[in-house]
Amino acid sequence: AVKASGRNGIQVWSEALERSSPAIIQIETGLHKAIARNELILHYQPQVDMASGRIVGVEALMRWQREGRLVPPGEFIPVAEESGLIVPMGEWAIEEACRAGRRWLDAGMEPVPIAVNIASQHMQHANLSSVVQGALTRERLRPELLELELTETGFMKEIAASLTQLNALRSQGIEVAIDDFGTGYSSLAYLTRLPLSKLKIDRSFVDSLDKKNEDRAVVTAIIALARSLKLRVVAEGVETRAQMEALMAHGCTIMQGYLLSKPLPEAQVLELLERQKNFGAEPRWQAMRAC
Ligand code: C2E
Ligand code: MG
Ligand code: MG
Ligand code: MG
Repeated sequence: AVKASGRNGIQVWSEALERSSPAIIQIETGLHKAIARNELILHYQPQVDMASGRIVGVEALMRWQREGRLVPPGEFIPVAEESGLIVPMGEWAIEEACRAGRRWLDAGMEPVPIAVNIASQHMQHANLSSVVQGALTRERLRPELLELELTETGFMKEIAASLTQLNALRSQGIEVAIDDFGTGYSSLAYLTRLPLSKLKIDRSFVDSLDKKNEDRAVVTAIIALARSLKLRVVAEGVETRAQMEALMAHGCTIMQGYLLSKPLPEAQVLELLERQKNFGAEPRWQAMRAC
């Protein structure tokens, strides 16, 4: 792991070693140039409301086109966070997501909100809300079409600093989702006071929905919590029919996962949106609901 928590001596020591390793330095140097060279791209994973079989949002997931290979975020986001590059990269992602939103509207699609992942470090950056505002204004997008995803752990770590920013964003009309929910240590008292719009149930809980009883209890508790706080709830990492059915049975209908679709290049998302506009719900998803 590149990002050591530094809770003990051994971890700090290995972090220092890793930071100066040639591989890490190479990634960092490459990332510096990646934005200017247009090597970063966004893929989009549909979020489907199984009650209607329609796409109700997409999550933008970053990839790095590096020397003919598509590098997944797990290999470069930790380095970007370590080096602070995550801030300009996050700004690029916000701007690119807004440009995509504009392209899709111009292509005649129905409006679909795009969610962008924001690192906790970026959440405390003073410029965030003006970058968001600038991108929305430039692309003439309503703020509801941009959503920010913050991981629960990252957010709770710096709650005070994040809170001011969160309030600013919400007053601009931006939707805010808590990502990987259930893995952190949210204070429930805080949750009721935060201007949030959505909880995303972490994949690890969804994954064991058809296996472990304790985790099933966590999922049902999160769904009930979201409902009582009047937040929307999305299940991430839905891979099987059994998981989908269990989620439906507990009242969570919005799902994201390989069962429905992997993250897709822009052209393929556009095809899905186009079909949805012309023919309604995707037949494959319709069929899943019917059984
Ligand atoms: P995340 O925000 O929780 O995104 C969901 C991840 O789960 C994505 O991985 C997605 O491809 C994967 N996933 C979705 N459905 C399934 C499924 O059914 N099964 C399995 N096994 N995986 C599924 P990805 O794209 O590799 O991204 C990993 C993480 O990297 C993201 O987790 C997010 O924390 C971070 N990340 C991605 N893009 C960005 C970005 O633009 N900025 C920042 N700060 N972080 C990003
Ligand atoms: Mg996310
Ligand atoms: Mg997530
Ligand atoms: Mg996750």
